[in-house]
Amino acid sequence: MDVASPEQVKAWCLANGFHPNRALGQNFLVNVDALGGIVDASGVNAGDMVLEIGPGLGVLTECLLARGVHVHAIEKDTRLADRLRTNVEAELAARGVAAPGSLTLVAADALKTDWDALFASRPFSACVSNLPYSVGTRILLDIARNLAAPPVLTVLVQTEVAQRFAALEGEKPRGQAGVWLQLDFDVRIVCEVSPASFWPKPEVGSSVVRLDRHPCALTPAERNLFYMLTKAAFMHRRKQLGGFLRKQPQFPGALDALAAVGIPPSARAEELSNAQWLALAKQIAACR
Ligand code: SAM
Repeated sequence: MDVASPEQVKAWCLANGFHPNRALGQNFLVNVDALGGIVDASGVNAGDMVLEIGPGLGVLTECLLARGVHVHAIEKDTRLADRLRTNVEAELAARGVAAPGSLTLVAADALKTDWDALFASRPFSACVSNLPYSVGTRILLDIARNLAAPPVLTVLVQTEVAQRFAALEGEKPRGQAGVWLQLDFDVRIVCEVSPASFWPKPEVGSSVVRLDRHPCALTPAERNLFYMLTKAAFMHRRKQLGGFLRKQPQFPGALDALAAVGIPPSARAEELSNAQWLALAKQIAACR
């Protein structure tokens, strides 16, 4: 089957009694240009070890394998995982598109993956994924927060979500996910992908986002505090930080820390840059 052909994908689903599952975000990419766009944006090279979450029918997987990379794919839907395992790898090897053994297929829930164990076992250079809508942010955050995660993450997500990942201080979509991702990564929206590039067609547009790891000098204690502090602050994003922190016994010395790093107590969570959150977390950690 040509998995980039909407007709062939529909015919396969019909013939196999397979109904794309909305809860699993099964909107399959069926546009060759969009596919090339995400793989080009990832910058992967032959020989790289690439992590893919949610390979689905394998359209992105095939494209990656054809570029000579080794793909480690994690798919929750066992029917799709079985199809990939039994048909696709052998078929691609027979066609000379991929070297035998270049696809590792794991039928599992990415939300339950032991990332520490996986990242310790394989030297991933990138993660390239068309993430399921409903749990994409959680999966990406689980991966990105792991210090052994691949240094480059290229993902396709809803445009609204992509904007949250990339939003800087003072911008409307600024929130916890963006602040957490930007702690360790430069986040860039590469391009938009229209709903017509998927089957079934989603109601909203999508965007390719590339995240490149940058150095971040936080001790484990400071990092822990950064996460706790920003999580609590964004749960009360409309509140002024001074008033909010005064009532938070888990951050002793936080008001003095605010003053020490030059943040006005009237500032709100979404107005702080990542550099300011970092400075504040370090200052509070130093007072503990
Ligand atoms: N990569 C394919 C493509 O581009 O056409 C499919 C992408 S589709 C948007 C998302 C895929 O993620 C589906 O195959 C779905 O079954 C899978 N998926 C959903 N939740 C998952 C989870 N928790 N862990 C792993 N895979 C998941």
